[in-house]
Amino acid sequence: MPANPQFDLAVIGAGIVGLGCALAAVKRGKRVVVIDRDAQANGASVRNFGFITVTGQERGEMWRRAMRSREVWAELAAEASIPVLHRGLLLTARRPESVAVLEAFLQTEMGVGCRAMDAGEVSREHPQIATPALLAALWSPHELRVESREAIPRLAAWLAAAHGVTFQRETAALGVDGSKVVTSRGVVEAGAIAVCPGDDLFSLFPERIAAYGVTRCKLQMLRLADPGFRLTAGVMSDLGLARYAGYAALPQAGALRSRLQAEQPGQLEHGVHLIVVQSADGSLVVGDSHHYAPTPDPFAREAVDRLILDEFEAVFGREAPPVVERWTGTYASASDRTVVIDTPAPGVRLVMVTTGAGASTGFAIGEEVVADLFGGAQR
Ligand SMILES: Cc1cc2nc3c(=O)[nH]c(=O)nc-3n(C[C@H](O)[C@H](O)[C@H](O)COP(=O)(O)OP(=O)(O)OC[C@H]3O[C@@H](n4cnc5c(N)ncnc54)[C@H](O)[C@@H]3O)c2cc1C
Repeated sequence: MPANPQFDLAVIGAGIVGLGCALAAVKRGKRVVVIDRDAQANGASVRNFGFITVTGQERGEMWRRAMRSREVWAELAAEASIPVLHRGLLLTARRPESVAVLEAFLQTEMGVGCRAMDAGEVSREHPQIATPALLAALWSPHELRVESREAIPRLAAWLAAAHGVTFQRETAALGVDGSKVVTSRGVVEAGAIAVCPGDDLFSLFPERIAAYGVTRCKLQMLRLADPGFRLTAGVMSDLGLARYAGYAALPQAGALRSRLQAEQPGQLEHGVHLIVVQSADGSLVVGDSHHYAPTPDPFAREAVDRLILDEFEAVFGREAPPVVERWTGTYASASDRTVVIDTPAPGVRLVMVTTGAGASTGFAIGEEVVADLFGGAQR
């Protein structure tokens, strides 16, 4: 390591994972530089729902990471001028098999603070859910929702203004050599380096990334016009119970999966499940689908959007409002792990969230990485 580097930590990647590392380091008084090849945030961190999800995360470490990250989001939101648009999750169930999964979930330690609601309670407290098929719902108080496309730039601006983080944008990191990051604009020296490349599998340490079997997942997303109602919480449905590991790993999920396979094979084939959140202007962010490939095609298929909208209409019991925006996003994905924290060299960490949960866990992962690099407690 250099005797007197200009920075204690160089972070490559200004998505939520890189910003999480930067935040954890400045909290310890470290001097931090963040390097990103784009002029402004453009990766998964600004294409997602901004749904900080705790309930449904994989049991154990991921669930704990989500609980901690949610706490950090709540702490910094006001300071960084990031409005919190919803608090909580309403997971609606239209099938007895789904109710069995909800009930089993509530028996686990992850059910803390959550409760079951019957259909009558749901229609009184959340009258927007107008499906006659509703049997019950799971209410979770833990979730937060931010508008990612505004929140991520504001988080970066706050790290720069309030904590002195240096941002080098429009700068590609071409290689890491000991304590040096070789970039398209010269060499940056730092005491430690966190490589947080999102789903770029091929630029830095490609052989190490390949060893973890990491590929990429493409998602289709929609924004719908203001439906004329206001949601107070994010909404999910039966399909989420078969997809999110916190529920899907429970033994009761097997029967639900078989029923969904018979009743909604198209949604299962395209990895469709439903998340609906609302923005300040009343529009709804609705998704999503899951298709896997090292380089997924960039095209959004109408038939897949239709599967998402069909589930929206089944849950809300009404026709979906017009689509006003469509986009795709991609994230890194591995079949056997949710996070990669690798040590390609002393003082260097490669950090990737390999499931669709970086917005919900990035702050906690940043704390782990910084504790690992600099020693001491995680916070
Ligand atoms: C459509 C969609 C919906 C999602 N929904 C949710 C959700 O509701 N809740 C949730 O928790 N998670 C969700 N996720 C997942 C979450 O968004 C990701 O896990 C998270 O954003 C990953 O953050 P990141 O910082 O690793 O990656 P990114 O945000 O992609 O950032 C990586 C950055 O690294 C930079 N970079 C890479 N290589 C280099 C290099 N060599 N030199 C310079 N810069 C480089 C890139 O330019 C980029 O800015 C969703 C993802 C998508 C796509």
